[in-house]
Amino acid sequence: MSAAHTHSCKATSCQKQIPLDLLMCMTHWRMVPAPLAREVKRTWQIRDRGEARTLAYQAAVTAAIAAVEAKQNRKIAERKQTELGLFSDLGL
Ligand SMILES: [Zn+2]
Repeated sequence: MSAAHTHSCKATSCQKQIPLDLLMCMTHWRMVPAPLAREVKRTWQIRDRGEARTLAYQAAVTAAIAAVEAKQNRKIAERKQTELGLFSDLGL
């Protein structure tokens, strides 16, 4: 894979290099809720036909990135909760 034909995954703080026609690496793309994923694909297909549709694509992408980030934050919060649980078991 040549660098000229890849870009990094759009998910927050993911550095994975992926082909230009993909928005995110598979790990993150799977975290996008199905209706949003469909919207990204739909607006991607029509994005070259006028500015309003380009905006629709950007909005869909922004929403997809936000959804993935929210999911990741929730995971981090759950992990913290578990750690706190462990500490309280130790009486700290
Ligand atoms: Zn990624």
